[in-house]
Amino acid sequence: MPQPIATLLNARWIVPVEPEGQVLEHHTLAIQNGRILALLPQAEAAVRYTAEISLNLDRHVLMPGLINAHTHASMTLLRGLADDLPLMAWLQDHIWPAETRWVDPEFVRDGTRLAIAEMLRGGTTCFNDMYFFPEVTATVARDCGIRACVGLIALDFPTAYARNLDEYLAKGLALHAALQAEPRLHTAFAPHAPYTVSAPALERIGRLAADLAIPIHMHVHETAAEVAQFVAAHGCRPLERLEQLGLLSPRLLAVHMTQLEPAEIERLSQAGAHVAHCPESNLKLASGFCPTARLDAAGVNVAIGTDGAASNNDLDLFGELRTAALLGKGVAGDACVLPAARVLRMATLNGARALGLGTETGSLEPGKAADLVAVDLGQPETEPVYHPISQLVYATCRHQVTDVWVAGQRLLADRRLTTLDLDETVRRTRDWREKIHAGCRA
Ligand SMILES: [Zn+2]
Repeated sequence: MPQPIATLLNARWIVPVEPEGQVLEHHTLAIQNGRILALLPQAEAAVRYTAEISLNLDRHVLMPGLINAHTHASMTLLRGLADDLPLMAWLQDHIWPAETRWVDPEFVRDGTRLAIAEMLRGGTTCFNDMYFFPEVTATVARDCGIRACVGLIALDFPTAYARNLDEYLAKGLALHAALQAEPRLHTAFAPHAPYTVSAPALERIGRLAADLAIPIHMHVHETAAEVAQFVAAHGCRPLERLEQLGLLSPRLLAVHMTQLEPAEIERLSQAGAHVAHCPESNLKLASGFCPTARLDAAGVNVAIGTDGAASNNDLDLFGELRTAALLGKGVAGDACVLPAARVLRMATLNGARALGLGTETGSLEPGKAADLVAVDLGQPETEPVYHPISQLVYATCRHQVTDVWVAGQRLLADRRLTTLDLDETVRRTRDWREKIHAGCRA
């Protein structure tokens, strides 16, 4: 007798990411209780299972959902507000003043909803966030069904969210405790950067992260000027400071890392620390180039993030992984480095590992959560298909994502969002645009 299960997805190709480079043809992915039950040839699946829902994806690749390893989701509301500026002028003259004036729980709710709509439509099933009012981000993510790692933010200065370090940490710890009952929501400490969070604060966060066994998500070595200023003020490079404070460990997810000396790459590798590479943000702000091929060769786990939409200006991971592949080759001066399968792994399994979720998501393996996306390659832009993985990295556009599942729940069905009112989301976004634009002119 065939075994009754929830869902069978019959795909032209399945790219499980683990093992790297594997492409299964005419296979079926079986889902039960939100988890991947099996991957097997379609003829075998037809005999072994009977499903409540069975879907034929005849022109599609089924692959793990993309993992956005670094973003500030609600900054979508500031998309395009200030462009064509270097990092510090952009931050100090435009973004920080706008945030001081506008960021509150309502801003975070509406911005996060817009971000999740964009990310789901582009094949992202998990995002690693750093922003104020993370409890609001968590609520919106839960309501939409997407997986998220919510950053417990910390800064040296007061904001609308918290007055001082004690309050940042107390709120963060309360949120961490509250999310223990939410299987799709995870937490990481998110001290903004070594130049905005003091050494004693970082030391305290390092101890708390070890106690709770959660990651530390932080901007590190984003620009040469930032590193030079830190050296002038403290007599050492930021990464060295983090090491002195006990933060250089497998829990550290260092974002950007455009300034790295060979010995630092070696130290990252030895420590088992992770890097979140944000190529388009680094290019747009002219921050520098992360040496991804050298990090990868040294065994450092490199994941990919979009950064916030104010500095990118989108949350398009398909675009980002193509940029990561091309830029990585250009920076290395070697077309053979960072092959397509490796870059796809960066945007999936490496991201999961960086968030401490490597056994839960990031690849299509039995027992893992059914976090997956279907991509229609039967479009003129991606025909003919010789190598599906090359097609995904070098030719696919995010609009070719037709379906998205998180923990087996179909959140995008034939391009339609199932848990989120898109018209209402866009309407609220336009209301914010009117308010913020009028404020800028006042
Ligand atoms: Zn960032």
